[in-house]
Amino acid sequence: MLRNINGILCYYVVMNENLTGKINSLRQKYREIFKTTAEEIQKRTDELKPTGAGDIFDSYDANSEGAKWQTAVLKMFEDDISKDIIKKWAEILAYRDNFKCKGCAVCCNLACSEFSPEELKQKALSGDNFANQFLGIFVPYNSKDEASKIYPDYIKLLDDTITDPVYFYHCPKLSECKRCTDYENRPQICRNFPDNPLSVLPDSCGFYEWKREVEPVALMLHAMVEIMDYYKQKIELAQKIDLQNYGKEL
Ligand code: SF4
Ligand code: SF4
Repeated sequence: MLRNINGILCYYVVMNENLTGKINSLRQKYREIFKTTAEEIQKRTDELKPTGAGDIFDSYDANSEGAKWQTAVLKMFEDDISKDIIKKWAEILAYRDNFKCKGCAVCCNLACSEFSPEELKQKALSGDNFANQFLGIFVPYNSKDEASKIYPDYIKLLDDTITDPVYFYHCPKLSECKRCTDYENRPQICRNFPDNPLSVLPDSCGFYEWKREVEPVALMLHAMVEIMDYYKQKIELAQKIDLQNYGKEL
C-alpha cells in the first residue's frame, strides 16, 4: 500500500513472503470497517432528520426543512465528527512514542513516489515542503531492476496493483552497515516516520506493533473521512442543483 502525503506517494517497504496476503487482508478489514462506519454516520444523519423529509442527498428548496437538515448534517461533520477524528489521530500519534526504531534501515533504503525526480523538483520549486525534504534525502535508483533486487516482493506487488508509473528512491546517507551517517541532522520526515499506521511496515520495524494495535481505529478514521467527503460532495451538488433551478424560475 502506498501512503499519500502532500500528493507524494511516499512508501516504505515491507519485506516478507506474504506481502500480498497482508494487503488483501487489510483491504478486507477496511471494507468491513467502512460498512459499519457508513451505517453509523447514516444513523446520526437520520437522527437529525425532520419529519417528512426525503433523502439527505435530495435537492430541497433553500430555507426548507430539508435544506436546514443538510446544513445541520454538514455542521455536525465539521463541529463534531471532524474534531473527534483530529483528536483520535493525535492520540494515535502520541501512543507511537511508546515504541522505538530498531534501526533495520528498510525505510531508508526504499522510498517510492508517483513523481519523477524532475516532477519533484518542480513541486519543491513551487513551495511544496514535503517534496523539498524528500529530494533533500532521497536519490533515485538507477533502474527499477536495481530496486527490485533489494525488495523483489514489494516491486512485484506494485507491478501487480498499480498501473501508473512509480519511481524508486533510496537515501545515500545510509552506510553499508545500515546506519544513518547524519543521524543528528536527519530531516523531520525521517524523525516522524512512520507517521501513518496505515503504511505497510516491515515486520522488522520497531513500530510494527504500534501499527498493529492502532490500525483498526486508524481504518475507522480513514473511513469516516471518506464517507464525510462523499456526503459533502453530494449535498453540495444537491444544493447547487436547487440554486440552478431557482435561477431558472426567476
Ligand atoms: S537521512 Fe538518515 S534517517 Fe533519513 S533516510 Fe537517510 S539514512 Fe535514513
Ligand atoms: S525500525 Fe522502522 S523506522 Fe526504524 S529503520 Fe526500520 S523501518 Fe525504519
